[in-house]
Parts: sequence; C-alpha cells; structure tokens
Amino acid sequence: MPELPEVETVANGVNERIRGERIASVWLSRYKEPFKTPAEPMAQALQGRRIDRVHRVGKHIVFDLSSGKPSAGRNTSGGNHEIQWIVHLGMTGRLLVSSANIPVPPHTHAILTLSSGRELRFVDPRRFGRLALHAAGEEARAEERFRGPGSEPLSISAEDFIRLFRGRRLTIKAALLNQSLLHGVGNIYADESLFHAGIRPTRMAGRLPRARLLALHGALQAVLRKAIDLGGSSVSDYVDADGVAGFFQLEHKVYMRTGQPCLVCGTPVRRIILAGRGTHYCPICQR
Ligand SMILES: [Zn+2]
Repeated sequence: MPELPEVETVANGVNERIRGERIASVWLSRYKEPFKTPAEPMAQALQGRRIDRVHRVGKHIVFDLSSGKPSAGRNTSGGNHEIQWIVHLGMTGRLLVSSANIPVPPHTHAILTLSSGRELRFVDPRRFGRLALHAAGEEARAEERFRGPGSEPLSISAEDFIRLFRGRRLTIKAALLNQSLLHGVGNIYADESLFHAGIRPTRMAGRLPRARLLALHGALQAVLRKAIDLGGSSVSDYVDADGVAGFFQLEHKVYMRTGQPCLVCGTPVRRIILAGRGTHYCPICQR
C-alpha cells in the first residue's frame, strides 16, 4: 500500500516525465470501480487538455490541467487550471509512462495518449484505486483546488499539529492514522515516527504533553522527508514501464520487526493491534 512518500515520489516522477504534454486521446476500461467520476464524462473532460503540473496532495496524485489553447487565458502559465484529475493509487495502483509500442499490461484501466506519442497508463489489479475529476472553477482560486481531508503532514506547523490532538480520546496511533486529522499518514510512518519520538502508540492523544507532541511533529516530518529522499532515487522503478513493480523499503526501526532487537536498546520489538492495525514498538524506548 503506497503511503505519502511513495505517492510523492510517483507524482514527482510523473511530473518530470510528462509535464507540459497535451492529452491527445483517452481510453478507459469497462470496469466501474476505478471511476469515481463516470468514465464517459471523464474521458471527454480530459481529452485535449494540457498537463501543467503533477503533484501530491495527501495520498492523492493531482494533475493540474488547463485548456492548453494559447488564447484561452491571459495568463496561461500562471495557474489558470480549469480542472484537476485526481488519482488515488489504492492498494495496487500504478501510473506508468510508456512508449506506445510496449504491450499494455493486464489490469490497465486508463490510457492517456500524450502529444509526444507516449502513454500514461493506470494499472490496478485489485481495483481499489480511484480516478476522479475535480472542477476548480473558472478562476481556479486556491481554495477551490483539490485539498482532500485533513491537514498536510509535511507542511502543518507545530502549533497546528499540537492543536489537532487536543482533547482527543483515542490513542496517538489511531489519531495519526485518522485521515480527517492528518492526510496521508499510514501504518508504516505512524509506527516509525512514534518510535523516533519515543512515544508508546497506546498513549491517549489528548493527554500527551506539548513537548512530546512537538517531538512527534519533528519526528513525523523527518521520517517522511527521509523516505521521500530515498524514494526519489528509485523513482524509475515504478514510473517507467520497464521498471519493476513495488516500492522502496525504508530502513524501518520497528515496523515489521516483531521480536527482533530494538536497534537502540536491544529489547525485542513488540507487536500489538491498535485501531485494527498491526502496531510495532519498543517497550523500553517508547513510553
Ligand atoms: Zn528500544
């Protein structure tokens, strides 16, 4: 399951490869599940647009699309985005930039043929991924752009971060996973950031003192940034069609290391279930 750093890496990789191209034609599969916006209006809306920028918002990959006509606006480079195409990778979704002569892989649900002749393909065997259109309005004011739920973990300020957890009667692990609080933090980075902050995942979010939440804010951003840095070097592995599937593995300190010695103190890492998710922590380092 791709998490925020993987989604950011994919978005940046796709942006580098196809930014500025026009969508010449669109093919969408007959399956209903991948299309949050029905397939036919989506295909019509995408066709002919120019891809101005591809970026990440939470765990979504957002394509800013303009009409691409030179006469369409006084300010063609300045963010006059009329619609946005929103891609959520789900469990197994991948975006591939392919040359047209590479055979289309099974489970391909969308093919955008680009002005260069290359194709952007959305491949998703399990069909938990979602494609949608977001209309940003004629002026595309900032507040009309796609934002998704919750706050952005990489840009939230320390004070806003602390405020998120005030009075929350749930464990800090559950709070980190709650997408209406923070958008894009999944199981791996919740466990890893709690380890780095020295906080036991079972602590009640609303009872953690300010200093500990400050430490968590710093740890979460550091862990996510490090993962993005590591992912950035291997982006071709999952954006280019000839690459291998799968995401890089961060050198995890606790995640999926049940029973192995803590890398700081040597105590075996413990695994419990919290908020329905496997949760890994060191019983000595995390209090
Ligand atoms: Zn330890």
